[in-house]
Amino acid sequence: MSHGNKKKYEEWLKEERAKLTTRQDTSVALIEWEIATDKLTSENDEIRRVARRDAFIERLVEIGYEPVITRLKSEALGLLENLPGIKGVNPFSEEDWETFRPELIESLETLEEKFKKQDRVGFLADRTEKLLRPVYDYYISHHRDIQSSAPLFLQLAKLEPFKGLIYDAPADQELTQADFIAHLDAMPKLIDSWKEEIAGRLLVLLDLGSEERADSDAAQAKGKEKADVLDNTSVLDRATTIFECKRCSRSNLLFYPIILTHGCLVEYPQHSTGDYNCRWNEQDQVEVHERASRYARVIIGILGQNPDMVTWKQLDKDNQRVECTRCRTRVTRKSRNRSNRLVMNWRHAILHEIEKHSEESEDSCENGWQALDSKSLAITYSREQAEAEAGPGPTCVECKLCSIQENRVVYPRRWRRDSTVIKGAKTCQAGHDLSMGVYDEWDPLVENFSSRSTPQPVRIPDVKL
Ligand SMILES: [Zn+2]
Ligand SMILES: [Zn+2]
Ligand SMILES: [Zn+2]
Repeated sequence: MSHGNKKKYEEWLKEERAKLTTRQDTSVALIEWEIATDKLTSENDEIRRVARRDAFIERLVEIGYEPVITRLKSEALGLLENLPGIKGVNPFSEEDWETFRPELIESLETLEEKFKKQDRVGFLADRTEKLLRPVYDYYISHHRDIQSSAPLFLQLAKLEPFKGLIYDAPADQELTQADFIAHLDAMPKLIDSWKEEIAGRLLVLLDLGSEERADSDAAQAKGKEKADVLDNTSVLDRATTIFECKRCSRSNLLFYPIILTHGCLVEYPQHSTGDYNCRWNEQDQVEVHERASRYARVIIGILGQNPDMVTWKQLDKDNQRVECTRCRTRVTRKSRNRSNRLVMNWRHAILHEIEKHSEESEDSCENGWQALDSKSLAITYSREQAEAEAGPGPTCVECKLCSIQENRVVYPRRWRRDSTVIKGAKTCQAGHDLSMGVYDEWDPLVENFSSRSTPQPVRIPDVKL
């Protein structure tokens, strides 16, 4: 490019660039103008919307709904804006008011009711969590042996004398932990009578169940004088007395007394009821686990025990195993894995029957199990040990002891910390000598007690006797 040409070219470029800038300027101005108009319109709309809303609110306040309106303004503005008829940009009119008035009143009354329940729940939660719970924690921390069969604090709140304090003491009465601590002496009796009451209800459930089964010993029992609940409690301890909870897994075997503190009996949407606490089985979710009970009879028979007598504690202690012969696999000369027999304890056997074989014929269970000879049992134990997952150890009682100082419960420093004791150790992590014992930490609200702790089924090889 020659020098002259270059100059010309630059001039031309300059001109073109100038044109482009003007064009750009114009379009920017156009866009800005559009935005401004939009903004104006939407600002206008907003003003009209607010005017309409405020006019409705003014009327509602006039007829006595000020408290709920104020509350909606601070807690749920969205709900307020969505009340029937209030939305929109049209100016408020008397006709609108007459049209929407009944619906508005209905909605506000529903909301008032909801707030009332919410406040009540909050009030009860406050007294329960801040006053009863620490006192309950204190008591349990000194009585770990009864933890799994004592009412949860949410259930305790529904029992006198605590019920009177939490529910009946006027809202403006300032209660303290001392008011609850004063009733600590009543705890043992309170827990006992609660257990007795629930035991009675469980026996009624069992009776209803056996009427349905119409089996011979139910007929016998009916012929007898209705015995005292306490005498009958042994029925509840039997290994064939199994309950289930309709809300959680059907394959959860609930024995007595674990059924007393089963987690989901106290865990349901409380706000709909306007209560924070609940009584045992308030939602009627406990049933007799008929199928499990039937299978238990068979398996207990295979183990050589009397199903009408033996307790689950005894069976756990005996620690025997059974083999499901239907699940035995064929071993050929070439088979690499010769462990062809499926072996498990009595609890797992009941679950296995429910999960794997319940669709089979009536007598499938009767013919499906075999007790183990001592040699096979020894192999099973060592297999189980090899396959056992290392669960958390028990917790040091002393680490979790609450105390009372100046009429207030004081939690120990280690309350929220892991205080499990390492297997075989003579002291806990904090150096306590374990003279106060250890306990299995569990929270019925988070874990399922019956599903853990027992050894899992294992496969073992055929044993030449
Ligand atoms: Zn449940
Ligand atoms: Zn099987
Ligand atoms: Zn300790």
